[in-house]
Order: sequence, then C-alpha cells, then structure tokens
Amino acid sequence: MFNKILIANRGEIACRVAATARRLAIKTVAVYSDADANAKHVSVCDEAVYIGGSAPKDSYLRWQKIIEAAQATGAQAIHPGYGFLSENEEFAQACANAGLVFIGPPASAIKAMGLKAESKRLMNLAGVPLVPGYHGTDQDPALLQREADSIGYPVLIKASAGGGGKGMRAVDKSEDFAAALASCQREAINSFGDDAVLIEKYVQRPRHIEIQVFGDTLGNYVYLFERDCSVQRRHQKVLEEAPAPGITEEFRQQMGAAAVAAARAVNYVGAGTVEFIVEQKPDGSMIFFFMEMNTRLQVEHPVTEAITGQDLVEWQLRVASGEPLPLAQDQLKITGHAIEARICAENPDNNFLPATGTLHVYGLPDCVTFARNSGGVRVDSGVREGDVISPFYDSMVAKLIVQGDTREQALSRLDTALAQTHIVGLNTNVQFLRNVVQSRSFMQADLDTGLIPREEAVLFKQEKVGLALAVAGAIAHTLLQEKANEARVSQQAVWLDPWARRDGWRSHGPSTRRFDFEFQGVVHVVTLTTRHDGALQLDVAGEVGEFSFMPVINGVDVRFAAQRQIVHVYINKAVAHIFTAQGATYLTAIDALAHAGDTQIEGGRLTAPMPGKVVSFSVKAGDQVIKGQALAVMDAMKMEHTIAAPMDGVVAELLYAPGDQVTEGAELLKLVA
Ligand code: ADP
Ligand code: ADP
Ligand code: MG
Repeated sequence: MFNKILIANRGEIACRVAATARRLAIKTVAVYSDADANAKHVSVCDEAVYIGGSAPKDSYLRWQKIIEAAQATGAQAIHPGYGFLSENEEFAQACANAGLVFIGPPASAIKAMGLKAESKRLMNLAGVPLVPGYHGTDQDPALLQREADSIGYPVLIKASAGGGGKGMRAVDKSEDFAAALASCQREAINSFGDDAVLIEKYVQRPRHIEIQVFGDTLGNYVYLFERDCSVQRRHQKVLEEAPAPGITEEFRQQMGAAAVAAARAVNYVGAGTVEFIVEQKPDGSMIFFFMEMNTRLQVEHPVTEAITGQDLVEWQLRVASGEPLPLAQDQLKITGHAIEARICAENPDNNFLPATGTLHVYGLPDCVTFARNSGGVRVDSGVREGDVISPFYDSMVAKLIVQGDTREQALSRLDTALAQTHIVGLNTNVQFLRNVVQSRSFMQADLDTGLIPREEAVLFKQEKVGLALAVAGAIAHTLLQEKANEARVSQQAVWLDPWARRDGWRSHGPSTRRFDFEFQGVVHVVTLTTRHDGALQLDVAGEVGEFSFMPVINGVDVRFAAQRQIVHVYINKAVAHIFTAQGATYLTAIDALAHAGDTQIEGGRLTAPMPGKVVSFSVKAGDQVIKGQALAVMDAMKMEHTIAAPMDGVVAELLYAPGDQVTEGAELLKLVA
C-alpha cells in the first residue's frame, strides 16, 4: 500500500479521498489554486502545494505542474477525484511515465471509453445493447440531418466528447434539427474542444440506471449493484438512490453482467460506472441500453457504499497498489436503501442560475461523516461556515446521503436531514430538493428523467412558511437577543451600582412596538403589544393573536394564534432567515428612516449576473428589441446564461465582444427606450 498520495482535485471529493487515506494511515498532499488558498480540502490534507490561478486551466488542469508537485513531495500515487483530470488519458499516461501510480484505469481504457461514439462501437462488438443511433465519423450537417430523420423524432444530439450533461440537445422535429446541431456543436467546442456529435433515438419515459463496476490488475471483475439517477434537470443528476426501485433480481443481474462485459472489453482496472438508459414499456417491461462508461469514481458513489457497507475509495487504493479486489461477487449484498441529494449553490426558481457568495451560516444535520453502513445520515462537504463559493468551480457544495431499512424510511430521513440543513449567505437548492422528495412521483418511485418537468407545479416557487410564522419567529428571536444584551448590560451595572438593576423590556408596563417587514415583495406592518400582566399579543397585518416563545437548543419554540413551531432564525444585516420543519424563508426589516427612493431600477442597463465569458450577442447596435428578447449569451460556472431585454427599446451600443471575460455586474450593452 502507498504511504503518501497526492489528491489532484478540490472540494468535497478531495476531502472525501483524504478521509479514507487518513483512516488507512496514508499521508495526503493537496493542490490548490488562488481561489482555494484557504479551502477546506487544503486543511484536511497533510501537505499542500500551490499550483496556480483560480481558473481550472491555470491550476487543476495543469497536469505537468501536478506531477511535479507529486514528485517534489514524494507522493507515490495520484488520485484524480472526478471532473478535472480524472478522465484525461494523457494525464494517466504522464503519471505512468513519471513513475507515479494513477489511481484509476489504464490510459488505454480511458481512451476507449472517452469518446461516446467510439465506445459505442466497442460495446457493440462486446455484445452490450445500444440505443439505435448514428455514431459515425462523417459529421456533414446534411448527413446528420438525414440520419436523424431516419432514426425518427424525438432524437438526442450528444457531443461525442461530452459529459456532465453538457453538450446535449433533444430535438422534437426535423425543422428544429439544424439549429439544435449548431448550438450543440458550439457548446461542444467550447467545453471539450471537439465539436463531433452523435445522434440517438430519444428513449421515452427513460430511467437512468447505472452499474458500479470494479476491476483489479489480476483480471477479476465485480459489480456493486446499481444506482438509479433518473431524477435529473437538464440531464444533470439531482437525486440518486440504490437499489433501483422496482427492478427484478434478474434484470439487476443482466445489467450487472453487461456492465462487467463492458469493463472486460477495455481491460478496465479500478472503479468505473456503466450508465444505462432503461426504457419502460407501457406493459411494465423494461429494456436497457448502454449509454456510456465513466472511467472514474462517480459523484454518487456514497449510495453504493451505504448499501454494500464498502468504502470505494479504499477499494481504489488497494487495487491501484496491486492488491486483488477485496470481495468476490457472491460476497456482496444489498442492505437497506440509500439516497443522495446534491446540495448546490444555485437558484432553482431562476432557472438554476449558479449562486456565489459567503456561507454566513452553514448548519448541517447531525450526521456521521464517512459512515460505513451507519444506517443514518452522512454529509460529504467541501466547505465550512465562512467559506466563499467562488464562480470558478462547480456549484455543488455538499452531498447529503441517507440510509434506511426501506426506501420509505430513507425518504423520510432525507426530508428531515434537508430541513436541518441551514444555509444563509447564498441561494441553494435545499428547499427544491425537499419539494422533489415530497412530490408524488418521487414518493411513489414513479421514476423517469421527466420527473422534474412533470412535477414542476409543486417544485418551483413554493413558499412553505407563511407570513405570520415568519414574523413571529423573527420577533421572538429579536426579543431574546435584546433580553440577552440587556442581561449583559444590567449584570455589569449591578456590579457597579446595585440600584441600576432593571427587568428588561417587560418592566415598562403596557406598551406597543411597531415593526415593518418586507415579505415576498410586500411591506407589512406588525405591532407587538405587551399587556400589564406581561403577556404578549401580536398583530401581523390584521391577524391578531397571543404570542409567546421559549428558547430551545439552537432555536426558538414559538406560539402564535394557536400555532406552534420550532424555528431557527439567523440575522444577516437587515434580513432574518427563518428555518422551520416545513421550509425556509426570509424577511427584511425595513428601517423607517431609510430613503424610500433608492431602489429605483436604472433603465436600459444590462449587467452580467455573475463573472464569466461573453459567448455571443444576438443583437447589434441600432436593433429594435422587445421586452424579454434574448440579447446575449454568457458562459459562467459551466453553464450558458441568456441575458434578456428588461424592456422594449433600441440597442445603443455593445460594450463587449464575444470571448471577453466580464466581472459580476459588468454592463454588457446599452439599451435605450
Ligand atoms: P453525460 O456524459 O453528460 O453524463 P449521458 O450520455 O450519460 O451524458 O446522458 C446523460 C443523461 O441524458 C442521461 O442520464 C439521460 O437522462 C439522458 N439521456 C441520454 N441518452 C438518452 C436517450 N437516448 N434518450 C433519452 N434520454 C437520454
Ligand atoms: P456523475 O459522476 O454523476 O456522472 P457528472 O457527469 O455530472 O457526474 O460530472 C461529475 C462531476 O465532475 C461534476 O459534478 C463536476 O463536479 C465535475 N465536472 C464535470 N465536468 C467538469 C469540468 N469540465 N471541469 C471540472 N469539473 C467537472
Ligand atoms: Mg453520463
């Protein structure tokens, strides 16, 4: 076994790998960029080497620099994590050439599986079932159009070098094909430097079910069962679970055998995932087709760890150091049910726009980190409270993994754990994830990749906490805070002057206080009345009731108008963030003295919502545009964002050119009414 490894990654996966290494007494070397100088992954490793600027191409993708770092620190092997260099065959080869062990498959297997089209050809030879489609090298647009027409619509265009849901377009009819092809090719060349595509029949009511495989250097293979990753948005996974609900043991074995055949066909070594698309026929039968093989550890590997009780990073390290697979196929068993939720800094209600900012509050559920079959809750996180989520990397900040004896129990546990995840400082998808977990389709395991659009009505723009409870929570918190401050002051005063003792805000007899709050864009007036007997009464925009509260661990037990709730309140400047068992919301305290006129929107200003690169402008100076019309496309945080006109008008000037890097808030163009 190695005694020192370098982890060529960042965030949660770097921390995840470091945890297993530590458990096995293997020393770790982190690498970091400018943006990550104080990142969590640096602090959990034994040593760290600075490798360059914040953009991945200046640091985490600079493999020569990373190999030098490994050599300089005496690391014997490199774990690439996922993303970045994990599926880069040149890097795998360069490690081997430098006498370092690449903790992953041989370069030849990465190469064989790297291009979707080429891997499909190989899988066809190995007898693995494929989705009907065109995987040829001739990329003439007219030919591609003819192929799509003959496959029959809907079809899916995929970037041959694609991954992570990028470079994929579904096309419903022949007339839309040419435009979708152009946009797919543009994304492909930008993201992967290669615009080759393949075309497939778009499978109806599809489920994404993938098999975890493992191979060792002695030619042994096993599969560690399946994961269902059907809950997706824009072809990106949102929730993953194992085992896949509703499949038969026979189907599981058939998929397992096909996945092992796929791995064997490319002499695979280490952890890999064979992704299948499963068609659900109206009669309830299912067929699976090979989609691709990911030649790395997958984001969702913890659900497999939960149901098998194995540590897959440990398996990777053992196999990479030449040991045989820890277990044979008949020694592997499924126990219980596990679900993973990807917690991302993003705004689901605004098209999942990635969010950046500081994690002022980062409260996680009670959990066991890196538990092996803990039967509970696990959090794999790459950040700590106070950390900044920068625009340079992926928006995923943590993963919440739960396990239960049954799917039902796991679901309930996940909902509770999400409710206990309190994040303040930037938008996250936590509430959205809860909405998915509570949706009819997910609860009944009515799974397919269309689940999110189908359940749209209950997933987006849901307010789970009403005005009254939010206000009661915020006021209770404020009063407790005032009382605590007053207690501090009066204690000092008692020591100095025994006559100065006061009994806080209740001692002033009957009184009324006014609070002004903005909630969901509307300003509400709230009055708090303290009666002679000290009892409190609250009037929240006309709803009047008795009000009382009591501090409990980390929260406040609030009663108002016959309702009772435990709320957790965090104050960040003028905003009170309120978390309850139902959900989260926030209120803004309005300072009566604040100038009312300064929130006026400046007409015709179009600014970058976040730092990124200008991809294109769809208008030029002098163009007449209407409100809502797309004006420009930006690429930021690995996603394209369209900048739309806030009003009707005429484009006065474009302030940047395609390819320009812009900072957050930069004005992209001028529009006049
Ligand atoms: P990536 O490399 O981005 O992971 P995949 O080829 O694995 O791309 O596909 C990602 C997702 O796209 C799948 O999980 C599935 O939801 C959807 N998908 C892929 N191929 C098809 C298909 N032929 N029909 C329907 N959906 C598909
Ligand atoms: P999965 O392992 O579930 O198939 P994805 O295919 O979405 O996940 O990609 C795995 C992870 O790799 C992503 O969540 C992301 O963090 C990272 N990743 C994907 N593409 C890139 C990239 N181009 N650069 C850096 N990281 C990437
Ligand atoms: Mg995939």
